[in-house]
Amino acid sequence: MTSQRNLGKNTQAIHAGEARTSTTEKSGIPLLPPIYQNSTFRFTTAAECAEAFRDEESGYVYTRWGNPTQEVLEKKLAVLEAGEDALATASGMGAVSTALLTALAEGGHVVAMENLYSATFQILNEELQRFGIETTFVDATDTAQIERAIRDDTKVLYLESPTNPLLKLIDLRASAEIAKAHGLTSIIDNTFATPCGQQPIALGIDVVVHSMTKYLSGTGAVIAGAIIGEKEFVTRAKEGALRNFGAVISPFNAWLTLHGLTTLPLRFTRHCENAARIAAFLETHPAIAWVRYPGLPSHPQHELAEHQMEAFGGMITLELKGGRTAGEHLVDRLQLCSLAVSLGDVRTLICHPASTTHSHVPAEIRQQIGVTDGLVRISVGLEDTDDIIADLEQALQSHTS
Ligand code: PLP
Repeated sequence: MTSQRNLGKNTQAIHAGEARTSTTEKSGIPLLPPIYQNSTFRFTTAAECAEAFRDEESGYVYTRWGNPTQEVLEKKLAVLEAGEDALATASGMGAVSTALLTALAEGGHVVAMENLYSATFQILNEELQRFGIETTFVDATDTAQIERAIRDDTKVLYLESPTNPLLKLIDLRASAEIAKAHGLTSIIDNTFATPCGQQPIALGIDVVVHSMTKYLSGTGAVIAGAIIGEKEFVTRAKEGALRNFGAVISPFNAWLTLHGLTTLPLRFTRHCENAARIAAFLETHPAIAWVRYPGLPSHPQHELAEHQMEAFGGMITLELKGGRTAGEHLVDRLQLCSLAVSLGDVRTLICHPASTTHSHVPAEIRQQIGVTDGLVRISVGLEDTDDIIADLEQALQSHTS
């Protein structure tokens, strides 16, 4: 495994964690890691079974505790995210909740970025509050605000960068240093950047979580999540919150994700190339007030993006001049791109938060958090760039003309 860490990203994505030898197959080794679609494992003697219960490393007992297909995926994830160990979970929220439950204890306090994925915000703002765990939300793009919010009982610093949907960036190295100085566990949701766009652990962050539903699996076929970090943390998560609360990935979803991961670097490169061209096109369009893409020199934190990101990703956010009507009009007229939530798919997905994901948020609060009525988020897919641009152009033109 150590040598796999020195290989290139494409080679890691394809080979890391996969067996080169087999103790069970007499004639050849399956080229694709097989799927162990079973809930439990059979033993031939009481002594064998007792040993498996005593020493978990010695074998598989029950799929909620461990399964060979999950483990191939976990080894691959650990190598790709440059962490010691990894855990696959049933969903991105399974990863977020398991990581938080592992890092926190009764009465602890969290400092978190104010713009977070909505369900993560709800876990911190509502669910954990019920158990006496408080969260202070700060604009972590200003790291001084993180430092100021830390209390004696703070246990966790929780971040997302780039943020959803405004694509703001947090200085991860500086944030990790603050967390270390105060003995906090730093956790980042790296779903938007993927391990190909940014390597938080190399920048000093303790724990990475993912919604593998997105870029990592890539084809929109599964709901899945991941936790990557030090072996001690991952083992505690696996043997505690994951196993007991039960957000375990199914072998089939682990297997699909495993195959999705093999093409992640290739897909991500293409997502980034498409997004860079499309962002440049949108920035010059008369119907658009502004475009946010970390790779554009006009992004307010472009310098930080260049410094800490290896690639700028496939997400673009823009503000239409015509507000909500223009936003609804644009998504109504799309012919190739799909009106859908989620991201990181091979297909281009577009959403208009004001009329969908944030429609329940009062207009003044939406305005306050920057989710304005003309805001549109694009997850750029892998179609030919010219075709995506042509679709956007006709949808934008039919409004302006
Ligand atoms: N984190 C981010 C940044 C997301 O965008 C999402 C879902 O959109 C999640 C976590 C939750 O992931 P899942 O739907 O796989 O539970």
